[in-house]
Amino acid sequence: MRIADLLVTGRPVFSFEFFPPKTPAGEAGLFRTIDHLRELEPAFVSVTYGAGGSTRDKTVDLVRRIKHDIGIETMAHLTCVGAVADEIDSVLRQLRAAGIENVLALRGDAPNNDVQFTAVPGGFQYASQLVTFIRQRGYEFCVAAAAYPEGHVECRDRDLDLQHLKAKVDAGADLLITQLFFDNRDFDVFVERARLLGIRSPIIPGIMPITNLAQIERFTSMCGARIPDELRQRLLACGDDEQAVRAVGVEHAFEQCRDLLARGAAGIHFYTLNQSLATRAICERLQRN
Ligand code: FAD
Repeated sequence: MRIADLLVTGRPVFSFEFFPPKTPAGEAGLFRTIDHLRELEPAFVSVTYGAGGSTRDKTVDLVRRIKHDIGIETMAHLTCVGAVADEIDSVLRQLRAAGIENVLALRGDAPNNDVQFTAVPGGFQYASQLVTFIRQRGYEFCVAAAAYPEGHVECRDRDLDLQHLKAKVDAGADLLITQLFFDNRDFDVFVERARLLGIRSPIIPGIMPITNLAQIERFTSMCGARIPDELRQRLLACGDDEQAVRAVGVEHAFEQCRDLLARGAAGIHFYTLNQSLATRAICERLQRN
């Protein structure tokens, strides 16, 4: 089913993001995680596309198996990294042949930690070009695109970044999923400004429960998200107590979700890191509320 069709019902849509594991043991772990989370009846799960397009076949294989063998709707991430248009077209054809209806169209990050993203000759420089390509080729996928409540790291002019976001919507993106953020006020301001610019698409907030401070510091330094001082202090106060860090992270994410949903968010996209415990704890509390 197309996610955009689920969103028109107005009921919040819950989704879980996974990445393709590198080893058979990791894959077995992922399927245990999915098994543990399926009782929460997610509207869909998404599978990332590895840096440099490295997981292309794995991503296609996983979304196919999760959709058809387990029976959960899926969304395949797809990036432009290192691929010419024909190669991207080939992935899109594989996805269509596998019965996949939802694609998250991304530019991706520059390989080898390069600061600047440069498209390969015959490839795409921006995600908006990928969205245009998908539409021009007549694919009927529901297309999602990425949005950045705190601005994308490469474009600190937030107005300009929003115009680039609008270009993805104008090119044919049906919905937007945000980068992780920890302060709902950033999301509120972002949505307000997006609406003022004429972006009407549903915007699903992306939430990552913090379970490890060093790990989240690493992520946020790469993606430009800010950990509010008050939250960082509470995490630091936990010291080496991993359980305590997890409890603070889960509590914070739960409060974020509760607040977002109470104010009409289209849903919540959980960055699970292939782990089920934190996401499950949050969803169960949300369902009880
Ligand atoms: P774009 O929308 O193309 O934007 C990239 C930059 O270019 C921005 O700074 C933008 O402002 C600027 N820009 C856009 N258009 C123009 C223009 N016309 N002129 C000048 N500047 C322009 N990465 C992966 O590798 N695999 C994944 O599976 C993956 N999943 C993700 C899922 C979500 C929900 C999110 C939020 C991100 C994900 N990413 C993933 C990370 C993403 O690839 C990076 O954030 C990447 O740096 C930007 O991708 P984009 O699609 O937002 O790019």
